[in-house]
Amino acid sequence: MTTLIINGKQIAEQLRADLAGAARSLKDSTGVVPHLAAVLVGDDPASAVYVRNKQIACHKAGFKSTLHRFPATTSQAELLELVHSLNAAADVHGILVQLPLPKGIDATTVLDTVDPAKDVDGFHPENVGLMQQGRPRFLPCTPAGVMHMLRVSGITTSGKHAVVIGRSDIVGKPMAALLAQKGADATVTLCHSRTPDIAVFSRQADILVAAVGIPLYVKAHMVKPGAVIIDVGINRLGDRLVGDVDYAQVAPVVGAISPVPGGVGPMTIAKLLKNTLQAARATQPIETLNIGPLAETHRGD
Ligand code: NAP
Repeated sequence: MTTLIINGKQIAEQLRADLAGAARSLKDSTGVVPHLAAVLVGDDPASAVYVRNKQIACHKAGFKSTLHRFPATTSQAELLELVHSLNAAADVHGILVQLPLPKGIDATTVLDTVDPAKDVDGFHPENVGLMQQGRPRFLPCTPAGVMHMLRVSGITTSGKHAVVIGRSDIVGKPMAALLAQKGADATVTLCHSRTPDIAVFSRQADILVAAVGIPLYVKAHMVKPGAVIIDVGINRLGDRLVGDVDYAQVAPVVGAISPVPGGVGPMTIAKLLKNTLQAARATQPIETLNIGPLAETHRGD
């Protein structure tokens, strides 16, 4: 059996090219350039790389991006003041607060302060609620990226048993919600650190999504032969980046698998751009918009 390698890098490149075209058309019809404001607090090197990659992706797609960088000693009050000013800035369409925030700053308070109409990460409780009800404004970028990868790879979710390992607010929980949503129609099992014997569940999965944060956690004996494996994990192991799935062991026995790197990671960034474009479009009267091909894809994919 040949294993389909789900090439997230290539799928994301196509999506980013579509977004660049849609951004040009928005600029031509309204003069508006989608603008993402990134907020980076402290000196975590991984966070700095993530923000830099997001900025590069913005520039390549013809978006504007600005970086608001603060030392780790910044107070919560100062950060909230910045968020309020970005909320009020008419030319800022998306606000990204890079996590984690330094100790002493309550991330929930900061994220809840972001204007839901500019919450392009999809973390605000209002946007989480809208997503849960199946009428999303912004979908969280990583789970939306996974749904997009599945769709363009021709992998149907309807009637399948999907098992998600990990229940974080940014990956596992929304991933399970999107897979179970009407239209996606998977039957979903959500596993976490208190699930006894995860292999019992993971071996039943037609589609297995690993978002655990433990390098090479999913082994060959934990998957059903022929299953679809989506590896969300990004872990540093020595000088290598590896996922939550032991790719070398698992790839030969499954039907499809997303690699790390080059799988879910690039999709996450592409979906952040998509949300930013959508936020920019939403500021314009509908009749001024020359709606391009992205207009109908504002769903779980
Ligand atoms: P997280 O907040 O640390 O959540 C990890 C989840 O895994 C938790 O729900 C935890 O359960 C569960 N877990 C931990 N140990 C487990 C075990 N032994 N067995 C079963 N479940 C276990 O992590 P996250 O933010 O969701 O990220 C997960 C991974 O995805 C990380 O490697 C992260 O770097 C990566 N990531 C990648 C992208 C991307 O764009 N590709 C985006 C975001 C995150 P409890 O809830 O019970 O503690």
